[in-house]
Amino acid sequence: MDDLSRQRQLRLERDALAMDVPNCPACLHQMEPAEANGEYIWECHECGATRFP
Ligand SMILES: [Zn+2]
Repeated sequence: MDDLSRQRQLRLERDALAMDVPNCPACLHQMEPAEANGEYIWECHECGATRFP
């Protein structure tokens, strides 16, 4: 795979992740994508809860 198609693939995966936004299990607020230790996680900006995809 060349660099261009790898970048395209990464962007697609990120978009797919962003479209499927979960709600916070604690306060039911919509969670925001965040990054921790190079991994994508979901973070609630209302109560600070995090969850792994
Ligand atoms: Zn919350």
